[in-house]
Amino acid sequence: MSKQKKCEIKHLHLSFSDLCGGNCLYCPEVRATSNKGDRIMREETFNRILNYVLQSSIKDTLKTITISENGNCFLNKNIINYLRTIRQKLPEVKTIAYINPQGSQRYQEDITKENLLDDIWVNIDTLDKEYNKFLSKIDYLFAFESLEKLVDLRKKYQSNFKIHVLTLTLKKYLDICKKRTGDYPLRLKNNSQFNPKLIKDDYRKVKRKIKPLLSKGDSINRSFIYLWAEYQNIKTPRLNYNCPMLNAFDENIFINPDGKLYLCCYDSNYNLSYGNIKEKSIGELIFSQKRKELIELLKNREYLKIGFPCQYVQLCQREKPTLRAKIISRMKRYSWGKFVVNKLKREI
Ligand code: SF4
Repeated sequence: MSKQKKCEIKHLHLSFSDLCGGNCLYCPEVRATSNKGDRIMREETFNRILNYVLQSSIKDTLKTITISENGNCFLNKNIINYLRTIRQKLPEVKTIAYINPQGSQRYQEDITKENLLDDIWVNIDTLDKEYNKFLSKIDYLFAFESLEKLVDLRKKYQSNFKIHVLTLTLKKYLDICKKRTGDYPLRLKNNSQFNPKLIKDDYRKVKRKIKPLLSKGDSINRSFIYLWAEYQNIKTPRLNYNCPMLNAFDENIFINPDGKLYLCCYDSNYNLSYGNIKEKSIGELIFSQKRKELIELLKNREYLKIGFPCQYVQLCQREKPTLRAKIISRMKRYSWGKFVVNKLKREI
């Protein structure tokens, strides 16, 4: 076995809830169905995690806590209390949430007034009613109104959290899916209303509408596209890829609502779990044999031995950057380049 790199946990990803009514096109249908325990994180589990962090060396290395892993965190009615506790006990740690507007509205005022989050991420994938039908059960006009409300509250309470909008357009998803799996998305295959020829890319339209709401430090970008929902389209798995999380394992811990630790955020059904904090401490689990063996198999590309989801490692890969993206990233290394890129962005 090769030597294990020192663990220095910087990012804690908690799933306050792994329930979600979004039913998005790009979300795996089997998400979190293996969880026969708590689907909403109980106070006891949350306190156990936080107490461990406070009493261990993780306290000194931790930089961020994300509360919305693999589900809609706003379905946990303790969300405000948990966030208050994090702020009080770990004031230096950045708090991050991906907002699903379903259920978030009633908490927005407290979050904003008390500055409980530092970064809020929100997906607005379209503002077109027809495309919305194929993309998600979340009404994007409702998502847009929710964003407007958040912006108003931020102004009212002079809060300083940043808003980051991600847009995953239907057209882009279809193109990438077709290119990399040879087929259209699984959730659309039997949809008689779906006609790929009629779908256009609406990223610029979405961006134009959202940009005026955003302030300095906020952002709107296309979302990266992973095809974790499309594994059933893969006939012959291709295993000659590296696991893209290899360098992230020693800095990230993922914990589901029941207290299970798992390796990777693409593992939406906890197949890569290496134990539960109800049975062992976080420290014991991080240094457990099971976790070491899993990482070793991933390093050696022995994906078939692990099975699902790693046997579909080809779907975990980010798409290669376009020539345009490569040029922009090169330009951004210089101050003149940053100036030009920002100017062009403002004019789009
Ligand atoms: S190969 Fe496995 S561990 Fe690596 S990113 Fe994919 S699902 Fe996660």
